[in-house]
Amino acid sequence: QRCLSLIKATKFLNAYITVAEETALKQAEESEERYKRGQILGDLDGVPVAIKDNFSTAGIETTCASNMLKGYIPPYNATVVQKLLDQGAVLLGKTNLDEFAMGSGSTDGIFGPVRNPWSYSRQYREKCVQNTQTENEDSNWLITGGSSGGSAAAVSSFTCFTALGSDTGGSTRNPAALCGVVGLKPTYGLISRHGLIPLVNSMDVPGILTRCVDDAAIVLGVLAGHDPKDSTTVQDPFKPFELPSFIDASKLCIGIPKEYHAPGLSSETLALWSKAADLFENAGARVKEVSLPHTQYSIICYHVLCTAEVASNMARFDGLEYGHRSSMDKSTEVMYAATRREGFNDVVRGRILSGNYFLLKQNYENYFIKAQKVRRLIANDFVNVFNGGIDVLLTPTTLRDTIPYVEFIKEDNRTRSAQDDIFTQAANMAGLPAITVPTAVSERGLPIGLQFIGRAFREQQLLTVAKWFE
Ligand code: GLN
Repeated sequence: QRCLSLIKATKFLNAYITVAEETALKQAEESEERYKRGQILGDLDGVPVAIKDNFSTAGIETTCASNMLKGYIPPYNATVVQKLLDQGAVLLGKTNLDEFAMGSGSTDGIFGPVRNPWSYSRQYREKCVQNTQTENEDSNWLITGGSSGGSAAAVSSFTCFTALGSDTGGSTRNPAALCGVVGLKPTYGLISRHGLIPLVNSMDVPGILTRCVDDAAIVLGVLAGHDPKDSTTVQDPFKPFELPSFIDASKLCIGIPKEYHAPGLSSETLALWSKAADLFENAGARVKEVSLPHTQYSIICYHVLCTAEVASNMARFDGLEYGHRSSMDKSTEVMYAATRREGFNDVVRGRILSGNYFLLKQNYENYFIKAQKVRRLIANDFVNVFNGGIDVLLTPTTLRDTIPYVEFIKEDNRTRSAQDDIFTQAANMAGLPAITVPTAVSERGLPIGLQFIGRAFREQQLLTVAKWFE
């Protein structure tokens, strides 16, 4: 009830698309009954959670923030949603995002942009007044980052204890960093994507947003594991783990990829990054500069692979099977075209067009196949670094702290995504686990996160390091 009333009180953040008030209260009551009987279901019994609106939820509208799926009520739960419910979690509602998770601001969905709760922090407000001499809230409010901005805002504003996001190029870690919460992108294949409406199948993973690293470990323990409904999940059983409260950092070898000194990196974030490296060094860890020479091609390579997979994924939205159907139905062709024009925003349509271009017979070798080869090189860079003895890599998560909405929308979605995913994208190319940890507040009073990238399926080590650092 407290979470639900907080959701109402923070409605202006636009973090939730759907609030499942009735079912949430019923689930909470059932949980309380179980508690009284001493029969709790698991770690998350009674814990209020929020779900990004690109995960299918049985009986609850699932829109992907798109006109195409507005009103769509899935007949089944995504595996991760079912797992949360099986543990007794209370599902509060569905969170806002960029249409079909394409974006890095949570500004491009049909329900409008999400506001970063930190827009209303006292330090930031005072700074705004100092700089502009006005309390003009409308020009000052900040974006959450994205595309899981609704989930990040929901956790950051304390309306839920954990939220699910998705991460294809950074969509969990980017908003987590900009909203001051923990964001975990697990290894590709560790968590089922069944029921997650796909963006780029070869990179999508469910992401976990929490207030602290310990919570992320608990949720990971609930969600991880093989799913016969997702053939990319690995067969090896996953052993949930608790993080030790003491670790000996002197045994660690931390890698600092030199290519991550990217143009546009703010001096504050840079300073924080090297301070973090010092922290490890002072604790006795070895801190080594390493090189990931192909990472620089990751964004351009992502553009080809992402749009190609989008072109094929979006073909299902033909007006017949799912979602919106245009009334302009003189012929099948006309109906297809009108349905997509009315159903998708220009970002989605643009990606479908680019993807089909890259997949044309005469372009396939030159673009799609080449991008796949580059992807392999990017992934091999990581293998080499880890084989050289590095335990985890330490990098920034974003170039800087968050910015006002009015600044953000000055550039188009494609340019923005390219800049915003610069530190997060390569981990998706390589399928590696990565976590962002809130690290400090900037001079403007806004959160900055740092990222750790680990070896495949070594979440326990990654989270242990993250917890030590937290
Ligand atoms: N910003 C990237 C994009 O627009 C990544 C999005 C994501 O991870 N879902 O595609």
